[in-house]
Amino acid sequence: MIGRRLRSMFVDGEWRAAHSRAQIELIDPSTERWIAGAADGDTHDVAAAASAARAAAPDWGRTAPEERAALLDALADAVDKRQDEIARLVTAQNGTVLSRSRRTNGTRPVALYRHFADVARSFHPERYDGEAQGIIRREPLGVVGIIVPWNAPQSLLANKIGPALAAGCTAVIKPAAETSLDALLLAQMASAEGFPPGVINVVTGGRRTGAALVDCNDVDMVSFTGSTSAGRQIAARCGHMLRPLLAELGGKSAAVLLDDADLDVFAAKLIATCLPNTGQVCYACTRIIAPRALFDDVVDVVTHVLSQARVGDPLDPGVDFGPLVSEAQRRRVEQYIATARADGATVAFGGDRPPDTTAGYYVQPTVLVDVDRSMPVFREEIFGPVVVVVAHDGDDDAVTIANDSSYGLGGAVFSRDHGRAIEVARHTQTGGMSINGADRGASAPFYGYKDSGLGGVPGLEAHLAYKFIADAANAKRNVRA
Ligand code: NAD
Repeated sequence: MIGRRLRSMFVDGEWRAAHSRAQIELIDPSTERWIAGAADGDTHDVAAAASAARAAAPDWGRTAPEERAALLDALADAVDKRQDEIARLVTAQNGTVLSRSRRTNGTRPVALYRHFADVARSFHPERYDGEAQGIIRREPLGVVGIIVPWNAPQSLLANKIGPALAAGCTAVIKPAAETSLDALLLAQMASAEGFPPGVINVVTGGRRTGAALVDCNDVDMVSFTGSTSAGRQIAARCGHMLRPLLAELGGKSAAVLLDDADLDVFAAKLIATCLPNTGQVCYACTRIIAPRALFDDVVDVVTHVLSQARVGDPLDPGVDFGPLVSEAQRRRVEQYIATARADGATVAFGGDRPPDTTAGYYVQPTVLVDVDRSMPVFREEIFGPVVVVVAHDGDDDAVTIANDSSYGLGGAVFSRDHGRAIEVARHTQTGGMSINGADRGASAPFYGYKDSGLGGVPGLEAHLAYKFIADAANAKRNVRA
């Protein structure tokens, strides 16, 4: 797909010429060079894809859950075989360091498809309830409009199409403009593995294409991952149409160090916890909350780790920080740093572009101190390689500072005492916490508190409608196994 100008989208099991003649230009953020063009879908393209999904919905919804599970397993195998190719395709589009891209666009989606295959296998749509006196049946909602961002596109897609397909829904995917190519490849691969035409469709395009999908009459539910501001606009539209919405949104998470934290463990986990993917991850813990007595030591650790980290070509295996996804994103990050400086924050490390790069949207990893909790760098999601370090006066104060946010998505606690760390995690208003940098498995629920999400019933359940069939006399023997 690299080097080509695509004028088709994947609809109804085949490449179909786009109605729109407009194009999205895809740029490699590490070189600033053009890599491909993709169709910028219009309302006709969205309607064609949604109508294919609508037509496919009844048959797909009637397939046995085991059949859907077998296809999800086949998709997992196919992605597994082509992991390296997919990871490189994503890196070329969004600049994710290849070793990370192999996980978030390779092993992780494979694990997620296998997990949702297991979920489908153990799904029983009907059961008899004696007290209610009838059959409780859960039916797929129908066509799901799926809209995702570019930062970990294959994991995010797997997290959305996995439960939708397992539930028996069909999907129209609108990937981020920046990562159009890998979504098209995935749909083509799914079709080759035997997913029936119309079950997975991809319409490429930008915001307008996404908005057209949200508004499309053939869409029964919207499943969105992206920024809180776009989430609000989509929620307003869905509210007007009374359309179910699952929204996974932005974050400004905190890494809390307790006074017994092992600073070597924190140092080893720092980049993965606080600045994964050059800080372009929704759950990145970009607020580091350190005990006042250890404040200088923590700043030294953070500064040391980031000064040793390498910034550069994402394909180089020794590199820790790649470029930002776009020139616009770099400008936004630089603006946050400039505003923080003007507001009185001190740059303890970084703050500029790397001195020896001539191309690519690079910014040095940056540490800010003397940060007031009213400053935008403390309150707003920057989505770049910038952390702030603030002091706390004990566990309760640390929790208060961590909770002083309109977001609540991720979080971390570092302590030698796991019981104490888990107690801090219990009191933090957020959907996910990690103790000492522990990772999550594929079946872990993903949920956002406050402005970080909406409708977060994890997994299959969000894609199902309930039906009750009252039939006290005969229902029990008519339950479908
Ligand atoms: P974005 O909201 O600008 O775009 C995300 C997707 O939504 C893209 O496909 C875009 O084209 C589409 N879109 C944007 N506005 C729309 C609208 N009004 N109607 C319909 N579609 C619209 O986000 P971004 O800058 O591409 O991605 C970064 C954001 O995503 C960050 O805020 C990050 O925290 C968030 N994110 C959240 C999670 C999560 O699971 N909570 C995961 C990854 C990223």
